[in-house]
Amino acid sequence: MEPYQLDPLFADLTALPGVGAALAKLIARACGGGRVIDLLFHLPDSYVDRRKRSLISQALPNTVVTLEVVVSRIEPPSSPRQPIRVVVSDESGFAELVFFRAYPQARLRVGAKVLISGKMDDRRQMVHPDHIADAGRPDSFPGIEQVWPLTAGLFAWHLRKPVAASLQRLPELPEWHDAALMKREKWPGFRAALQGLQAPAELPDAALRRRLAYDELLAGQVAFGLMRKRNRLRPGRVVIGDNRLRNAALAAFGFEPTEAQRQALAEIDADLAAPHRMMRLLQGDVGSGKTLVAILAMLRAVEAGGQAALMAPTELLARQHARTLERICPVPFALLTSSVTGRERARVLEGFADGTIPIAVGTHALVQEGVAFADLALAVIDEQHRFGVNQRLLLGAKGELTDVLVMTATPIPRTMLLTQWGEMQISRLSGKPAGRQKIRTTTHRLSSLADVVAAVARALERGEMVYWVCPLVAESETLDLAAVEERYASLAVQFPGRVGLAHGRQDMAVREQALADFAAGRTRLLVATTVIEVGVDVPEASVMVIEQAERFGLAQLHQLRGRVGRGAAQSFCLLLYDDNLPQSARKRLNLLRETEDGFVIADEDFRLRGGGDLLGTKQSGLPGWRIADPETDEPLLHMAGRDAEALLSRDADLTTDRGRAIRLLLRLFDKLDAFRTLNSG
Ligand code: ADP
Ligand code: MG
Repeated sequence: MEPYQLDPLFADLTALPGVGAALAKLIARACGGGRVIDLLFHLPDSYVDRRKRSLISQALPNTVVTLEVVVSRIEPPSSPRQPIRVVVSDESGFAELVFFRAYPQARLRVGAKVLISGKMDDRRQMVHPDHIADAGRPDSFPGIEQVWPLTAGLFAWHLRKPVAASLQRLPELPEWHDAALMKREKWPGFRAALQGLQAPAELPDAALRRRLAYDELLAGQVAFGLMRKRNRLRPGRVVIGDNRLRNAALAAFGFEPTEAQRQALAEIDADLAAPHRMMRLLQGDVGSGKTLVAILAMLRAVEAGGQAALMAPTELLARQHARTLERICPVPFALLTSSVTGRERARVLEGFADGTIPIAVGTHALVQEGVAFADLALAVIDEQHRFGVNQRLLLGAKGELTDVLVMTATPIPRTMLLTQWGEMQISRLSGKPAGRQKIRTTTHRLSSLADVVAAVARALERGEMVYWVCPLVAESETLDLAAVEERYASLAVQFPGRVGLAHGRQDMAVREQALADFAAGRTRLLVATTVIEVGVDVPEASVMVIEQAERFGLAQLHQLRGRVGRGAAQSFCLLLYDDNLPQSARKRLNLLRETEDGFVIADEDFRLRGGGDLLGTKQSGLPGWRIADPETDEPLLHMAGRDAEALLSRDADLTTDRGRAIRLLLRLFDKLDAFRTLNSG
């Protein structure tokens, strides 16, 4: 069977009997798509079982019950606004059916035996039963009813026939899953699973949904695998160097690369040297030394005769990278941000364009129109999650065959790597450069603030430097802002002349000045919001106080903590929490006391809060899934990742029987493009 033979499933909903344009529009709204397949994948989220009969006296109030009763009496309304009441009975007692509108007179004649189903209240009244049928004809009575997610104006009875018609268009398909897996999981075939969920004769077993979730996850993983392969096949340039510039930079840096840095560089070098385009994500915990790796990779591009660019998400970070380059870069480089203007800007743009400036560092100003490079061989993007995917592609597009290295200091949980970064190769930079001590992390109630301030005073006396972080969240900005300023004011009184203030609502120049004063040691305690979260590098800072720690995510707290522990002194992180904080939330903070492994923290944060919030994007859940939920189906996701890898390593062109069946799976989940692009060059 070929993928095109599934075309009937991709027809517009109006192709189904009885579905006109208006209904199709409603269904499409509920399903998130207007094709037959979208309706098929729009699974019920629960079922009502009307099969079991109960006695009136035993019926639970406010749950759906099915009763077999005799009509005893009909009470006409006492006034036109009153309902009609139909009294029914069985051997256990009486109940009342209440109708505010016309009632089915023919069926509810006195003495008739009927089946009724609906919710009864605790006074044994059932208002407008869902179903009424002749007790002699039980086949006409629904057994199990699907409860689909609906939308305004759309009712379940609208969907029943279209769903049945859609199922009829679904042919029996060859099985694409491994027989052993099917047996172990007790999974039905694809068609049987959909049938069993969409038009059930029995309450569906959980295995049915799991099977379809696995189908979806596997389709995604196979598609990512094909995309990675396409990247490998995409022509790139061979970038090889002679270490001349690298050695000069390392000599100026004064330290040898760590083992982890060496390993990551080796992976990057292999990509650079290969004749395809690099698409690599370098994950490194805060302080793991990504900058050095980036600069050494960039110098390799220059050794090979090309240019390289490093894009940071903020001016502050770009300037910091520029300072590092100042120290160790043996070739000309230039900084480009929106505040670089006039003659300097003209000089820089000219140098990029004619190739006399081989290294560029900057913000998204680098990807604006009018910025051109003579020959951009490598683009490095720092703190990737702050950029949109488009910006990342834009920088890569500034050159012919540009290799792309993305860096993030947020360790990304494996689940998210699999679902959102699947087209990338991954490198991990674990551990920290030698000589770093563990950061001592403690938690404190806000009511013990005085002790915390005393500890800060001692640190200042020892000549150390302190960050004091307060939350500043958009939703409660005014309140938060007041709290930060108040904290600044009271600390400034206790430690006169030594306290600075930096937050996102200040003018950029004021904030930059405050950060610069702190970096230069002119102030010794910096009260700040999360503006210091990424990249700020002040090795003398050894104490991090975080107020209202409960309002931050674990991963974010970990990032903040990473601002200290950069020098030789023992560093401390003090987490202050509200006195009324519930036990469970305190437990969450305790994890930070226990571990400094960003990857462990990221996985836990993901488990606690879900993926949407992790990267500060604030969306809930992971988008783009119809059946699977990568959070609850995490084990299936990992299984699918391994399954896809094994499949593609044996059958990269999907030509075996299983491979051909997998093509159908890809089509069903709209992933066939990944395969087609690969095969059309
Ligand atoms: P991040 O991964 O958070 O960007 P950085 O690149 O800012 O980390 O590095 C953190 C600190 O470690 C910096 O002060 C940097 O100079 C230092 N560092 C990086 N690599 C080494 C090394 N191999 N030996 C010693 N110090 C290093
Ligand atoms: Mg960094």
